[in-house]
Amino acid sequence: QIIVIGSSNTDMVVKAAKLPGPGETILGGTFLMNPGGKGANQAMAAQRLGESKVIFIAKIGSDVFGQEAIDGFKRAGMDTRFVLKDGTAPSGIALISVDEQGENAIMVAPGANANLSAVEVAVALDACPEAELVLLQLEIPLDTVERSVVACAQKGIRVILNPAPARNLSDEILKHLYLITPNETEAELLTGVTVTDLDSARRAARILHDEKGVGNVIITLGAKGAFFYNTSLELLVPAPAVAAVDTTAAGDVFNGALVVALSEAMPLPDALAFACQAAALSVTRLGAQSSIPSRAEVNAALG
Ligand code: ADP
Repeated sequence: QIIVIGSSNTDMVVKAAKLPGPGETILGGTFLMNPGGKGANQAMAAQRLGESKVIFIAKIGSDVFGQEAIDGFKRAGMDTRFVLKDGTAPSGIALISVDEQGENAIMVAPGANANLSAVEVAVALDACPEAELVLLQLEIPLDTVERSVVACAQKGIRVILNPAPARNLSDEILKHLYLITPNETEAELLTGVTVTDLDSARRAARILHDEKGVGNVIITLGAKGAFFYNTSLELLVPAPAVAAVDTTAAGDVFNGALVVALSEAMPLPDALAFACQAAALSVTRLGAQSSIPSRAEVNAALG
């Protein structure tokens, strides 16, 4: 059983000729509303790519945006018993402005995401005795992440943390992780090593594994692929070459695919290749959840 604990947002995107400056109004442009949030994106990826019903633990507001989000999760087949409704805070919203060059300006109001408490997560986890793998990110309170990670480790549940967006983490969180999946920026914040290539990725991974006690480390390297490191294996899986159209949520698809592969007990090199292939397909398509490939597409591309 796969559980994803994390954020749900609604992305409201306006594309116009240019971004407004302070006090400025830009007339014209087009509006798009998309479901988003790293937690929801990763849960949707795991649901679409795997065979089991993914349990999503999250918090939305009692408003139309939250209702739309829940309806989307249900349509995808997810278990939404623990998508909780906040009585007062609105649903998480990202206001995204994009200009003709693709440059963006983003404001995120976390709303209900900021109220998902460790106690609420603990109650949900207690109701899921079959849980084997838990996937988290950092768009919910850090205290909730820390206490949930410790609680899962104590239950013998393997925890995967995608430490995004980049934030500093306590040694207490790190030592309980089965797997951490930072990108280059996040790996640098966590280790102080500027990650640009295989050599620097190895140095950063060693700090997380050898010094901080993370069980397994995967550093995602964008178009260069992903680097894996643990006590007995070191591996660089190159990214399949694709024509990138939109890299939004590449990391989310990678993490969702990875948790599916691990739940199916795929050997690690195969799990990495699967996650890289799913992420590569996603960057050839526009959007976040709309860019998640199907299992059949990933299998076909893997050959
Ligand atoms: P994030 O999206 O979180 O910043 P990355 O940029 O490292 O993370 O991307 C995550 C994964 O997505 C990479 O490890 C790689 O497998 C895949 N990926 C990202 N960009 C590309 C690309 N241009 N071509 C192929 N695969 C990509």
